[in-house]
Amino acid sequence: MPFEFSFTADQEAFRTAVRSFLEREVAPILVEMDEKEEFPRATIRRMQEEGFFGVPIPEEYGGLGLGKVGYCILLEEIGRVDASHGTILGAHTSLGTTPLLYYGTEAQKKRWLLPAAKGEKLLAFALTEPGSGSDSGAVHTIAEAAGDRWRITGTKLYCTNGREADTIIVMAANNAKLGPNGGVSAFLVDTNSPGFRVGRCEKKMGLHGTSTAELILDHVEVGPEHVLGDVGKGFHVAMTALDVGRVSLGAASLGGMQAATTQAMEFAKNRTQFGLPISEYEVIQFKLADMAMHIHALRYMVYHAAARQDRLGTNPKAWSHLERLEKTREAAIVKCLASEWAADVIDEALQIHGGLGYIRGTPIERAYRDARISEIFEGTNEIQRLVISRDLMGRGL
Ligand SMILES: Cc1cc2nc3c(=O)[nH]c(=O)nc-3n(C[C@H](O)[C@H](O)[C@H](O)COP(=O)(O)OP(=O)(O)OC[C@H]3O[C@@H](n4cnc5c(N)ncnc54)[C@H](O)[C@@H]3O)c2cc1C
Repeated sequence: MPFEFSFTADQEAFRTAVRSFLEREVAPILVEMDEKEEFPRATIRRMQEEGFFGVPIPEEYGGLGLGKVGYCILLEEIGRVDASHGTILGAHTSLGTTPLLYYGTEAQKKRWLLPAAKGEKLLAFALTEPGSGSDSGAVHTIAEAAGDRWRITGTKLYCTNGREADTIIVMAANNAKLGPNGGVSAFLVDTNSPGFRVGRCEKKMGLHGTSTAELILDHVEVGPEHVLGDVGKGFHVAMTALDVGRVSLGAASLGGMQAATTQAMEFAKNRTQFGLPISEYEVIQFKLADMAMHIHALRYMVYHAAARQDRLGTNPKAWSHLERLEKTREAAIVKCLASEWAADVIDEALQIHGGLGYIRGTPIERAYRDARISEIFEGTNEIQRLVISRDLMGRGL
């Protein structure tokens, strides 16, 4: 893997355009969104109109064709402004459009990917269940064969965008005995299907703009054209999507760390105690230096991983076994370090704000609540360490 990396002029122009859009249209609504705990429908609609919900998807399928590097630029910029918007977009893109692009038939791409990438439809991804979280292969939702059709029954938990999505990629067991190795399939379930309903939506510590929904599937019937990838290979579909999601989570964390550091620096320059701005005290300067070090390191990690995913392409059948292992290990490393560094950096930034950092309505207070989930979703950090250590034991460093 080459280590040299720089952004093209087009990528820099995209970053500038995204940044000014977010500052103009998204930043002003955030305090109210957080207080009211409402899905930010109007700003999401505007982002869809701008093409932001199809950034890594090729133009022929309705996207902007900017690859994973472009997608990470987008998420880094969103991360600087708001984690809720990033999570809504990430669940749709990493976990919704990626499986369609990588595993969909031409007909599925035309029917589901094209409108999703164009921002006309919203996607979600449902793997987690009441009895199956980290042990995500232990799927209890059943897909029963009925001729060439399938009847899906079960309950999914904590589905981001679950309340608003038009279509959800649902993991269900076509053969419970086989488990993740041949017994789980991915289904495209339209949320207007008979038998589908949204259950409880969780109240959360942070990410107040997102829905986190229980989904109830009661004999939802779908045809064979709704199976995404091969029957029994749904777990691969899910894990491939999560590899993309984990790197993009790193990009969003990178943005969050930059915003927190900038806010802390500005505050420190303007807050005088004991006759000096607190930025003059070495303790504060060293905190800021530590924050900058983590940002610097994470930037290289995120874009290295994104560039690798772009080089590998979007046809999983073309990847060698080694390429898969390297990609998965790198995604787990990025996710784990990014979420933990973001938590540390945002915590230190809040500390620099003193009491003000604890007051509801300040950006750093919201960022602190929003950041915590990154150590849990898309696979907890304990599970990332499991993924990394298993691969390490298998083939060394
Ligand atoms: C806001 C939010 C949004 C989410 N969005 C989605 C979504 O869109 N789609 C979706 O499918 N899911 C989603 N999730 C679910 C999320 O991915 C799971 O919560 C997560 O994977 C952990 O599962 P769990 O909550 O069941 O915890 P558990 O698996 O019960 O874990 C509990 C604790 O045990 C640890 N643990 C478990 N097994 C081991 C082990 N073998 N070794 C060491 N430690 C272990 C875990 O790391 C954790 O600390 C979301 C969750 C939240 C809160």
